[in-house]
Amino acid sequence: MNIAENITALREGLPGRVKIVAVSKTMGVERIMEAYQAGQRIFGENKVQELLEKQPLLPDDVEWHFIGHLQTNKVKLVVPLVKLIHAVDSEKLLQHIDREGQRIGRKIECLLQVKIAREESKFGLRREDATRLLKAYLQDEFRFVTIRGLMGMATFTSDTEQVGKEFAFLSAFYRELKDGLFAHDDGFREVSMGMSGDYDIAVKNGSTMVRIGSLIFGERTYAT
Ligand SMILES: *Cc1c(COP(=O)(O)O)cnc(C)c1O
Repeated sequence: MNIAENITALREGLPGRVKIVAVSKTMGVERIMEAYQAGQRIFGENKVQELLEKQPLLPDDVEWHFIGHLQTNKVKLVVPLVKLIHAVDSEKLLQHIDREGQRIGRKIECLLQVKIAREESKFGLRREDATRLLKAYLQDEFRFVTIRGLMGMATFTSDTEQVGKEFAFLSAFYRELKDGLFAHDDGFREVSMGMSGDYDIAVKNGSTMVRIGSLIFGERTYAT
């Protein structure tokens, strides 16, 4: 299977509401262009340096999403290049993004990353902290940010029941916000969850955005 066929097969298996973020980390421009020519427009990167290198080499209508952990001192570099930041996992990071949005005169679209996995290593806000931050946002504390929804990463495990529980938790939290605090905010509408190994479970649980790398581009090989 080539990249174009992979994208077509993936698209055909997904409900229309679900957007595909093609995770192009470690992939060269040529392979990204193959996906682009197959109609893919949303690409996700998780390293600032890689994004900076690739962005100028690809067409202007590519919609870049930053999906990785973002350090506050890199916010300035990333913000002008991206349509959506998926993994805002602290108040401090949101403040930096807000400040940068103000500086360039544009509202920056973000998702809050909620910790749903069991692993210690995964980033994300606890539910209470996310709620507190969202309340501050609704009270206009971050005027150069638009919060579009939530993002989460499930535990890396073959236990599909566990993964299902984690996605269901994120989905229920989103629903509660959508019907409560955000009942009058149509802009709050995305749940970014699901990767190559677990996207079907995520979609069953209400994902609106899946972040797919290896299923589109093949296995990644990391330079050592
Ligand atoms: C790498 C990565 C993905 C995609 O992983 P695959 O298993 O290749 O689909 C999704 N989300 C994040 C945050 C990633 O870093």
